[in-house]
Amino acid sequence: MIARGGIDLGGTKIQTVVVDGRWQVRGEARRPTPTTGGPEDVAGQVAEAMREAAQAANLETSALASVGVGSPGEVNQRTGSVSQARNLPGWEGTFELGPWLEDKLGTTMKVGNDVQVATEAEFRLGAGRPYRSLVGIFWGTGVGGGLILDGKPWLGRGGAGEIGHIVVKKGGARCPCGRRGCMEAYAGRAAMEAKARREHEGGRKTDLFKIMKKHEHDRLTSGIWERALNAQDSLAIELIDRAVSALGAGIASVINVLDVEAVIIGGGLGTRLGEPYAKRIVKAMHPHLFNDDNPPAVEVASLGDLGGAIGAALQTKG
Ligand SMILES: [Zn+2]
Repeated sequence: MIARGGIDLGGTKIQTVVVDGRWQVRGEARRPTPTTGGPEDVAGQVAEAMREAAQAANLETSALASVGVGSPGEVNQRTGSVSQARNLPGWEGTFELGPWLEDKLGTTMKVGNDVQVATEAEFRLGAGRPYRSLVGIFWGTGVGGGLILDGKPWLGRGGAGEIGHIVVKKGGARCPCGRRGCMEAYAGRAAMEAKARREHEGGRKTDLFKIMKKHEHDRLTSGIWERALNAQDSLAIELIDRAVSALGAGIASVINVLDVEAVIIGGGLGTRLGEPYAKRIVKAMHPHLFNDDNPPAVEVASLGDLGGAIGAALQTKG
């Protein structure tokens, strides 16, 4: 069996997989992404999670043909370095992630952009298979976007797909990127959590943080948002409604420009909230679609939580 490894290093957890030659998952493991420390602490957890997934497949990591990483931040695909991964602790500078992991895991590494590899996984193996052109929307800690145009990834000059920073309200809410009115300022999990904390500290009633403590988390993960929605928590409902409305405007704007066949919705919140929320996003898009008699297909990512890690493994095979 030719086995490859894949690592999804984004959001609130590190997800690893071992896949066989037909991209079937033979082992997987996950760990929470550290919230303190620096790149070496994160990379250490990544290596541990990769070892665990290999163990689950009865392999040593050195037996893997290669391991791919999907990373946030600015990725240098040639050297495997990652810079300015601001969602990760202490990662403002540059860290040689690929070489560091090669040393620890005893196999070759290929580092790519987390959103792009997840989009390619959906395009080649998941919900995007029927389409030639699509946009992947990863609704999680931030809101990432990946593009496949006419069967090929579109990277622009290296910075394409930053759909989270489409402006949905001029002079609007402050985005984690520092600008105002971005879609991510309303729909990103991190921005929603910051808003929820401000509202809660200002006296607004919500069970979001009680649920968080009960489940021993220090962040409002997508699972916590889901539980709060199920419990009819009014602040959770209000913030998620606001997110859906922003996603509708932002995604419709992309469609007005690119007219792709399909929108694939993934990411922690996207896959967790699933089909009912994809339908709500379709509804929120509609008033903003110029060609509203010919909307694109909107589908939930079918590789779910593992898509990013599988996509990371995919890129090791050129
Ligand atoms: Zn922004």
